[in-house]
Amino acid sequence: MAEIVYGSEIAANIKADLKQRLDHLKAEGKRLPHLVVILVGNNPASMSYVRGKEKACEAIGMENELVMLEENTSQKELLALIQQYNHDPMVDGILVQLPLPKHIDENEVLYAISPSKDVDGFHPYNIGRMMMGQPCYLPCTPKGIMAVLARIGEVDLSGKRAVVIGRSNIVGKPIAQLLLQANATVTITHSKTKEIQAITKEADILIVAIGKPRYVGADWIKPGAIVIDVGVNRDENNKLCGDVDFEAVKEIASYLTPVPKGIGPMTIAMLLSNTYDAYIEHTR
Ligand code: NAP
Repeated sequence: MAEIVYGSEIAANIKADLKQRLDHLKAEGKRLPHLVVILVGNNPASMSYVRGKEKACEAIGMENELVMLEENTSQKELLALIQQYNHDPMVDGILVQLPLPKHIDENEVLYAISPSKDVDGFHPYNIGRMMMGQPCYLPCTPKGIMAVLARIGEVDLSGKRAVVIGRSNIVGKPIAQLLLQANATVTITHSKTKEIQAITKEADILIVAIGKPRYVGADWIKPGAIVIDVGVNRDENNKLCGDVDFEAVKEIASYLTPVPKGIGPMTIAMLLSNTYDAYIEHTR
């Protein structure tokens, strides 16, 4: 029976530590780290994500600004606003909530954010540095997964067989890179992979980021594997669930992250942590 690894508990510790640091800054009369979150349009899921980020900032006393722009905001207007925040010495982190409306080129927007304020870690400069193993702002979800793996005390990733399902720029590709840097032997699988279960069944560590409710069953898992479920889905009863069939897989894995209370809270904690790091850089 797997040990269930609650990212929510690890995230709570990280946030408590950050709160303490911010309390000290406040007591010393220093300015506080400041995150700007920009939302274009009123996609309900995005709205709920940005509210979650706002609440998390407030809970630790981090300065935050939620900028809500009309759906028909032009790319030029958005880029001008980003430039304004790039040049604002009081702002440490800038996050533009994705997806953006279709008339806006997402890449142009991500390129426009100053790499030194790119706390989402999506700028090609930071991605390039990550690939080279150089210090950079790591994307929050993969960084959160690595922090969870680090807390599973007995696990040394070196030489382990890691399999990632999914190859998105925000989860699959970067987590594969971070696992590689931790000396795991990494395979990335995706929707065109043939005989995928034969590959996942060899994984000591399996990272699942597909976006399909309870898609990965016990017959995909090597007994004793560590299984990290990144998916956030609604099932047929509108209940939140992951990509992994939790009840079946917990019988066979050694460690398993749940959904909710798994990787989601870690992603937000890493956003706060990146913003704090950016603040330290900016106030050096
Ligand atoms: P995405 O951009 O839609 O990518 C999904 C990936 O899964 C693609 O690479 C796709 O392959 C692959 N895939 C789809 N069906 C598959 C199948 N049947 N077998 C194998 N691979 C398959 O999604 P994402 O942004 O990476 O997100 C994945 C999930 O994680 C979603 O549920 C999302 O909500 C969740 N998520 C959670 C957090 C968090 O903080 N917890 C953060 C980000 C994302 P192809 O490339 O071949 O199409």
